[in-house]
Amino acid sequence: MRNPNPKCELECRFKEGASFTTAMGWERVYDKHGNLITQDPNSTTGTIHCVACNKHWNYTSQAGVVKYKEI
Ligand SMILES: [Zn+2]
Repeated sequence: MRNPNPKCELECRFKEGASFTTAMGWERVYDKHGNLITQDPNSTTGTIHCVACNKHWNYTSQAGVVKYKEI
């Protein structure tokens, strides 16, 4: 899991909570070099908690991009 709080200067430890991933089927299309050109539409949402700062975030992860929102 990534670091939701890169500015934090403490010895952060991030604990992941329950997460949920959608299970949509998707058409995989490749170009002539074998690169996948359609993106996985599925997303994962969950919570993460820094045990050093005692902060919590919700996160959404889709197509390799993770967004955090402090809660
Ligand atoms: Zn922290």
